[in-house]
Amino acid sequence: MLTTIIYRSHFRDYVPVTVLEDMVVAANEKNSKAGVSGILLFNGKLFFQLLEGPDENVRAIYQTICEDERHHNVVELMCDYSPSRRFGKSGMELFDLRTYDRHEVLQTVMDKGTTRFQLIYNDRALQFFRTFVAESEIENYFEIPPADYWEFIPDSTSVRTLPGRYSETCSFAFQPIIDPLARERVTLEALIRTPSGEPAQRWFDGLQGDEIYEADLKSKSVAFAMASALGLAGQSLSVNLLPMTLVKVPNAVSYLLEEIAAHGLVPEQIVVEFTENEVISRLDDFTCSVRELKAAGIGVAIDHFGGGFGGLLLLAQFQPDRIKINRDLIRDIHKSGPRQAIVLAIIKCCTTLEILISAVGIEKAEEWMWLESAGVSQFQGHLFARPQLAGIPAIAWPERTEDI
Ligand code: C2E
Ligand code: MN
Ligand code: MN
Repeated sequence: MLTTIIYRSHFRDYVPVTVLEDMVVAANEKNSKAGVSGILLFNGKLFFQLLEGPDENVRAIYQTICEDERHHNVVELMCDYSPSRRFGKSGMELFDLRTYDRHEVLQTVMDKGTTRFQLIYNDRALQFFRTFVAESEIENYFEIPPADYWEFIPDSTSVRTLPGRYSETCSFAFQPIIDPLARERVTLEALIRTPSGEPAQRWFDGLQGDEIYEADLKSKSVAFAMASALGLAGQSLSVNLLPMTLVKVPNAVSYLLEEIAAHGLVPEQIVVEFTENEVISRLDDFTCSVRELKAAGIGVAIDHFGGGFGGLLLLAQFQPDRIKINRDLIRDIHKSGPRQAIVLAIIKCCTTLEILISAVGIEKAEEWMWLESAGVSQFQGHLFARPQLAGIPAIAWPERTEDI
């Protein structure tokens, strides 16, 4: 079995182009030894490379390539497997697109093909060559600056902490969703904790069977009480609910409305977040309850969007005010072609439907920068603020390093 990796990257502006020839000579030797074949395209600014050969060797070479300082914004476009090589000769060959006619270059690359069946027209790898040469995806190539372009400076002016325990059954940590470039806190999410501040999962582990739904609902009165004590009247507050909590607990929506009012809050400032995968199993019951929430003025968000299998089907039947893109899709998005393609499609879809998007679990400056370039402007994650037990944490706002 052969592994094929295709990536694209950006040549460092400060490296002289003559360095290329030496790179190719060195790579040619290295690849030959490893039984890896490489076809490299260069358009004066961007590289596009196919590597194929034994799995371990291809991965090892790709790893070294990713660490090479002479280029940046390395994005893996494809990783696939095939029975035989497309390009038989191992080593590395460079095609400088500036010296070729666009139409010729593809033919020339295809002529290098050595598989018994020729390079079949609909081969994915070949289609990637075609797309790169035609520059038809170029609007989705986002060039992001290095991580240290921004510094994240905590601002403690809005920090608050509540004294003492609020309840014997649970507590809440609060984490903001922010628009970093507008320097705006969009909402504050209440995350459940045990009374002593242990993680959400620990709190859920203490409950059995259907008990969980009633407890989930009742805990919201603690969230509202704490939000009120933190001075959140008039500001957006997000709470999480299991979708089945609305379906299984009688009069759940009326309970929420009473508790909201009892703590001096209004329905319009509340957003309820539901996890996608649980929604899908009883969609009809769920949409009914959501109608009640919306009729009362409460906003609805779908959490962990893209994390399950039902996400798109869900959107076809029901459109929330906001979706939160799952951390699994966000992780290292700046390096992954497939993640970028999926998230761009989600963004396109939500833009068309006027659904707000936020990205959750941002830990790296590069993840944030890539998503900003793609059109996302609301973020939640450790990069900006960790959840704070019974309080509002400081927010680390990005500032241009050179301005500091
Ligand atoms: P969620 O709604 O997606 O909440 C965000 C979770 O991601 C939180 O975990 C938060 O601590 C974590 N997080 C935030 N930023 C980052 C980051 O940059 N990196 C990483 N690795 N994690 C980050 P937490 O508090 O453990 O909550 C886990 C889940 O439990 C929540 O996910 C939510 O689905 C659920 N949950 C929390 N509170 C409640 C509640 O009151 N009711 C219900 N039904 N579910 C809740
Ligand atoms: Mn949530
Ligand atoms: Mn989550």
